[in-house]
Amino acid sequence: MVLVLYNTWTKKKEVFKPIEPGKVGYYSCGPTVYSSSHLGHGVTYIRTDMLKQFLKKWKGFVVKHVQNITDFGHMTSDADEGIDKIKKAMDREKKTAEDITEFYTNDFHDSMKKLKIEPPDVEPKASENVDIMIEIIKKIIENGYAYVKDGTVYFDVSKYKDYGKLSGKNMEAQEEKQRVADPNKKNPNDFVLWAKHQPGHSHVWDSPWGKGMPGWHIECSAMGRKYLDGDFDIHSGGVDHYFPHHENEIAQNYGAFGSIGVNYWIHFGLLSINGEKMSKSKENFITISDALEKFSPETIRMWVFSSQYKSTLDYSEDNLRKAKEKVDKINNFIQSLLKIADSADDKIETDLVKKYYEKFEAAMDDNLNTPEALAVIFDLITEANKKIDSKSLTKKEAADILALLEKIDTIFKMMNFKKEKIEIPEEVKKLIQEREKARTEKNWKKADEIRGQIRKMGYLLEDSEEGVKCRKIRSS
Ligand code: AMP
Ligand code: ZN
Repeated sequence: MVLVLYNTWTKKKEVFKPIEPGKVGYYSCGPTVYSSSHLGHGVTYIRTDMLKQFLKKWKGFVVKHVQNITDFGHMTSDADEGIDKIKKAMDREKKTAEDITEFYTNDFHDSMKKLKIEPPDVEPKASENVDIMIEIIKKIIENGYAYVKDGTVYFDVSKYKDYGKLSGKNMEAQEEKQRVADPNKKNPNDFVLWAKHQPGHSHVWDSPWGKGMPGWHIECSAMGRKYLDGDFDIHSGGVDHYFPHHENEIAQNYGAFGSIGVNYWIHFGLLSINGEKMSKSKENFITISDALEKFSPETIRMWVFSSQYKSTLDYSEDNLRKAKEKVDKINNFIQSLLKIADSADDKIETDLVKKYYEKFEAAMDDNLNTPEALAVIFDLITEANKKIDSKSLTKKEAADILALLEKIDTIFKMMNFKKEKIEIPEEVKKLIQEREKARTEKNWKKADEIRGQIRKMGYLLEDSEEGVKCRKIRSS
């Protein structure tokens, strides 16, 4: 079966074919480290990890994953008033640039770990790669795609015919927005490759054009190319990076190397809150740590996978609670399987499970359709539960289902395969006996009352042919 991915560059679903058979070079834009990571970052990097794990664990590719840390400032709008984001954080917290970026890089790592996101294979810091950014800017100038004006280097968008193709933005409308800006620009949409030093900059380096710092977009052109050895397979980020970040990255790659540099551009939908993008600068964010106080990592992951990666997610505690129920349902099902088979089988051989294996893969192959893939899991649970009820699920089938779920969980990371030992407290045991007594006396009212009392204590009673069974109600 073949994996098909939606490529933002061609605006089509395309069969995924890496440059080198069996290997994938993957670059994802990393965070700018000037404040705590919010749940929007969590959503994007859970999706990044899902794509990466599917390529590795299911499709068998050897993936090299590079994700940068943006540890010097950049300005994204006029609202920045000439002060970059890291400089603002330095002023706010009365700390050095190093202290700010180290602190928030650690915060980011910590949040990623808690959300069970595998770290990239290489995590270059932008500040340690300024030399190659300068080399690329020199090439862009030599090739006639950039010009220098008063210590600043601009990319000349009029030289690149596909400028605007990725984002599909109307560039004339965009020009209107830029008109008031920099008088040194030849075209309103020209963007900065190297910015002349200003007091509002967090960092300063020497360059052939004088003191200053690189523009934001050049860092990803430089680090992607350096650590993935030239053109590579996949580049991802949130849809907020269509423009200007990735549009400009493509223009830079073309200006320097004559190629857009990447074969598949993948963009994830954003997390919004009350209909607005969750962002650090809007201060409408929920940090990952805050979210983890209310919901488990498994619940958050389930909530993310319940929508396709391109769709916008709106923060909703109701939907997170629904996600928790789904996680519980899968984990309760796993406990039922573990009563029939002790562990997963190495090889899936039963027709029942092969059928679901193929359906799951088909859903994921279709541009990582995780909601459909989850529906396949729940269909499997429904069919298997019917067989468990009628005592017709074989031990081999149970072991095969466990094998399939374990494999799925290398991507989703939200299941629990440990057999739960239920320790029933003495008080509950006593109440069960009392209820049995009431039942033999046909005192149904009292029996029901005791059952309710036991439920309140966190245990569920199920009457079955073999007698009464007691299980713990999950709490997280
Ligand atoms: P930043 O630190 O803002 O450059 O973002 C790092 C990554 O997180 C980028 O891929 C962004 O697209 C993504 N991101 C930022 N805000 C959100 C959001 N609200 N929802 C989803 N992804 C986001
Ligand atoms: Zn980037």
